Amino acid sequence: MADLREYPRTAEGSNISKVVVDRDLCIAAVSCIAVAGDVWELDDENKVVAKDANAADDATLIASAEACPTKAILLFDNSGAQIFPK
Ligand code: SF4
Repeated sequence: MADLREYPRTAEGSNISKVVVDRDLCIAAVSCIAVAGDVWELDDENKVVAKDANAADDATLIASAEACPTKAILLFDNSGAQIFPK
């Protein structure tokens, strides 16, 4: 079973309603943190967690997911459809 962590997103005007991290894929490359340091941090297992899923706009959040070399960050829109990775 994949080790998935889900974070609801409630930012007003956002088209991203849920952020999911696949912890099995996270290799602590920290590219996501470089892009969106207000959203992401590493926990004591060196896996990324969202400290505040609402702390960046949609474009920044998408850029942080795109920056991940292992595509460990999944994004879902308001209809529940996965928008990244496609
Ligand atoms: S960029 Fe990907 S692998 Fe690196 S810390 Fe973020 S989620 Fe983990």
